[in-house]
Amino acid sequence: MSKFVKSATSKYKFGAHMSTAGGVSNSVQHAYDTGCNSFALFLKSPRKWVSPQYTPEEIEKFKKLVKEYNYDPLTDILPHGQYFINLANPDEEKALKSYDSFLDDLKRCESLGIGLYNLHPGSSLKGDHPTQLKQLASYLNKAIKETEFVTILLENMAGTGNLVGSNLEDLNTVIDLIEDKSRIGVCVDTCHTFAAGYDISTAETFQQFWDDFDRIVGLKYLRAMHLNDSKAPMGANRDLHEKLGEGYLTLKFFHLIATRYKFLKKIPIVLETPQDNDDGYGEEVDMLEWLETIPADSDLSKNDEFMEKYQTLQKNGAKSRKEQMAKFETKKKKPAATKRKAAGKDIISQMAKKSKK
Ligand SMILES: [Zn+2]
Ligand SMILES: [Zn+2]
Repeated sequence: MSKFVKSATSKYKFGAHMSTAGGVSNSVQHAYDTGCNSFALFLKSPRKWVSPQYTPEEIEKFKKLVKEYNYDPLTDILPHGQYFINLANPDEEKALKSYDSFLDDLKRCESLGIGLYNLHPGSSLKGDHPTQLKQLASYLNKAIKETEFVTILLENMAGTGNLVGSNLEDLNTVIDLIEDKSRIGVCVDTCHTFAAGYDISTAETFQQFWDDFDRIVGLKYLRAMHLNDSKAPMGANRDLHEKLGEGYLTLKFFHLIATRYKFLKKIPIVLETPQDNDDGYGEEVDMLEWLETIPADSDLSKNDEFMEKYQTLQKNGAKSRKEQMAKFETKKKKPAATKRKAAGKDIISQMAKKSKK
């Protein structure tokens, strides 16, 4: 018996990014053993352009486990694209190389019966930003025509300027250019949102963010979330995920996630927090399901159990938050050019570490 149980009572699809070590089907077993109601995975090595195709046996095993553990492959599984895929790259050769890997990913999804796929929308680099957004959209249109059913989700980003998706307007611009709108959506990453400068940390400002999202992008395009706290302060443009409750978003924010919004009930909400092993994710999923049981409008400051947890977690992350605040203060004094470079690097080093485990 595993330590964690896949919840039959939670109204939300809380889950986490799972390892595929030993074969893609192992992610399903890990997800189940971790008590996940949804999960993410890499379809191939996140650090190599080309990987061997799945064997028919591996595909069968994946589908069998998905069925056995009662995951809906069209809505509960959210593969993550490779970070170096950049369909907005003004260098044509590099963009084409990205496209090949991207299309291969989408075909892998369909071979496994998976209905969603998460993509970092890339960077216009030194190109003209609006032109590169059009290029990105044309590659997405092409890929949609070359596949059958998988929906591509563009993830919002933590950076500024030429990093596509650092604001809601970019996402809207690209979606507007997609011919088959039933095959495009958005994945909102809570850490990225906050780091990009959207204040989502209180009930009022988070509501404001969803209002803005609905006005600019459209809530119907929200098809998944990545749930992470943020090591860096708001507007720092740093993609630094933190364990839930230990960062600047705090446990109060995750209580809002677990209680307030009906439209979050149907979509995968996937953890990408820094953990040493899957048990860490299992504990966070359990914690979210516990937060779900605390009524939305209750006075949290009078809830001893909540406040104790809140303070313990904030204390765990205090040193790290302080370090990042100091870096943010220093960076604010530097010219903009150095700021931009930093944005893409953080996540690559974080995930390189992760894929080793
Ligand atoms: Zn993410
Ligand atoms: Zn990230």
